Amino acid sequence: MRIVLLGPPGAGKGTQARRLCEELSWAHVSTGDILRDAVKRGTVVGREAKRYMDAGQLVPDAVVIKIIAQRLKRKDCANGFILDGFPRTLAQCEALEAILEKLAMPIERAIHLTVPRQALFRRLSGRRLCRQCQAPYHMESHPPKKEGVCDACGGEVYQRDDDKPEPVRKRIDDYERVVASVAPFYMKRGIYLEVDGDRTIPRVYEDLLKLVKGKRRGRGFQRRGVPSAAPVRHS
Ligand code: AMP
Repeated sequence: MRIVLLGPPGAGKGTQARRLCEELSWAHVSTGDILRDAVKRGTVVGREAKRYMDAGQLVPDAVVIKIIAQRLKRKDCANGFILDGFPRTLAQCEALEAILEKLAMPIERAIHLTVPRQALFRRLSGRRLCRQCQAPYHMESHPPKKEGVCDACGGEVYQRDDDKPEPVRKRIDDYERVVASVAPFYMKRGIYLEVDGDRTIPRVYEDLLKLVKGKRRGRGFQRRGVPSAAPVRHS
């Protein structure tokens, strides 16, 4: 199956996409990961993208669309894929549709992992990380035993700059703008669904798995939008 996974920062979208793709042997296509890799390797695309990424802005549509067009042609996408972090604008939605039409591989579901703003704020601003081994902590649900010190390696536990209150607020606002342009596009096509992401990782995973395997019973998800002429197909 071919899926667009939408979700705000802190919704656990990357974690869920990785687990699903591992379980189902699908490709996990994250534009954020592809761009970070390009930056690390210092490619032409990476050098151009870095300016925008460092400023917390979207990379221009033309750049990400080119990247995604190349990535989706690779063999590992033939069995199914989850798009994570793409599309983020209406132009990207339209370009994706055109790319996939040529490949005869249309998107079958757009799944939105929803989490209330307050819960997101708590999740993100409570996050901490070990500077040395990258072990993740959370000040409410999983604090280090000794404040500021990593349980695993004794390294310094710190808060990422973009997990501080103001950047968190901006990231959530930016995301709300993305959803406002992307969700209606898929609603009109009758393939948009919402999944309650404000639950534990295993509970959300269980519902997502049922959903992508075509079993729609479950309490955590809801179909939204205008019914389309074309039925949602299960693969
Ligand atoms: P992410 O890890 O998905 O939050 O992406 C990290 C950064 O990469 C974003 O802040 C953007 O600068 C850039 N990026 C990732 N995906 C896209 C996209 N679809 N359109 C534009 N920029 C993107």
